[in-house]
Amino acid sequence: MAFGEQPKRSRAPLLLAMLVLLGVLGGVYAIWSAGRVGGEPEIVVDAPAAVGMRAAFAVVVKEPVRGIVDVVVTLEGAGLSQRTLGEVHITPPSSARAEPEQTEARIDVVIGKAVQPELKEGTLKLTVTATRVGSWLRHAEPVSVEKSIVVRLAPPTVTPMSSFVHVAQGGSEVIVYEVGATSNNDGVVVTRPSGVAWTFRGAPLPGAPATRHFAFFALPYDDTGPEADVKARVLLFAEDELGNRATAPFVHKFIPRPMGTDTIELKDPFLQKVTTEIFGQTPALQKTGVLLDDYLVLNRSLRQTNNAFLVELAQKSPSKFVWTQSFQPFADAAIKGAFADRRTYTRDGVTVDTQDHLGFDLARVERTPVNAGNDGITAFAGYFGIYGNCVILDHGFGLMTLYAHMSALNVKAGDVVTRGQILGLTGATGLAGGDHLHFTTLVGGYAVNPIEWWDSHWIKDRVKLKLGDALPFADK
Ligand SMILES: [Zn+2]
Repeated sequence: MAFGEQPKRSRAPLLLAMLVLLGVLGGVYAIWSAGRVGGEPEIVVDAPAAVGMRAAFAVVVKEPVRGIVDVVVTLEGAGLSQRTLGEVHITPPSSARAEPEQTEARIDVVIGKAVQPELKEGTLKLTVTATRVGSWLRHAEPVSVEKSIVVRLAPPTVTPMSSFVHVAQGGSEVIVYEVGATSNNDGVVVTRPSGVAWTFRGAPLPGAPATRHFAFFALPYDDTGPEADVKARVLLFAEDELGNRATAPFVHKFIPRPMGTDTIELKDPFLQKVTTEIFGQTPALQKTGVLLDDYLVLNRSLRQTNNAFLVELAQKSPSKFVWTQSFQPFADAAIKGAFADRRTYTRDGVTVDTQDHLGFDLARVERTPVNAGNDGITAFAGYFGIYGNCVILDHGFGLMTLYAHMSALNVKAGDVVTRGQILGLTGATGLAGGDHLHFTTLVGGYAVNPIEWWDSHWIKDRVKLKLGDALPFADK
């Protein structure tokens, strides 16, 4: 027995040691695999508190340790039955040791009346459900985040206050209107016959309650009517920050002013002169190597680029009337070209281009001093593409005048100028064949007929009567 008892005494601690070792291994595995399960997925919903016509945002789900297997975004309420807006399903890795397949998922969501036409005012419930990769023994429970989104579809109100708004082809006008408090963008939208829309942003009428706004706007020089179409193409608009938009017609009468025509025969010395100068001054342009083609680059695309810059410049116009008198014309000049002439360009008698001339070409003797048409702030002074050496004066609320082709400039950007002040001297820089002043009046960056602004009766009848004391107009 004594012999037999010896091994018994020695086997018991061995068994115990093995059990302890197993326990330790099990514990290590448990800790290791727990670490590989990861935490709950993080769900970030970048949704707005309210939605109207259209809102786009992202849903992002993250689980950096083991990754994600499922993300589902659903929407219901405010007239919508429950629907899935987006989902992501990922095959989990084959073993717990493998690197995660995908630790982040993004779903882009678009909500609004424009996308879900059955949407009504009310509250939407957006639900995001995400599931991470499970552990060795069991699947992970999905987690959800809910977000309430208010649906608001009523646009701001907009009501014209000016009556007898008469618009002329290529002319300017102003409208006073009452706008709802929820508006954050309002004014006049004018759709050209081609379908391109010109937007003229309104501003609070100085000295009036905050809901009374006004906007200057331009009538396209190429809109020939008929009147009923013009009434539908010229509208007040008001928009809130959710994109809800209201429009209202207000034009009472349309006056056609047919465009003029002109033909210009292109000669080589002229083409040489303008292409050498303008390409030299405009590093962004590439010559084609063909003289006529080079000219057409200027006459077509550079003209468009320059005119687009004018619209941008108008957005920076100060919200104040800088002028108190009617505009002064360039006196005693021969009119070499008028506003809204449709110009046909020929070479050896063959038509090579057609463009619209949107200002007045006024010629006197060479290097005649050019006077500021009115009090203003110099918005631009320098070389400006087809306009050559050019000064643009800003008279406030988007009204500007442009003086082109000059040989010398006396002002620089930012200079405040007074009516009649000398801005520089006439010349033939830019797209000009001979010494003259090209003069354009702009509303919101779009060319309008300057004749109206030269006429103090027109300003009194069409502008001052509507704006009243807000416009400090001093002409008798
Ligand atoms: Zn001109």
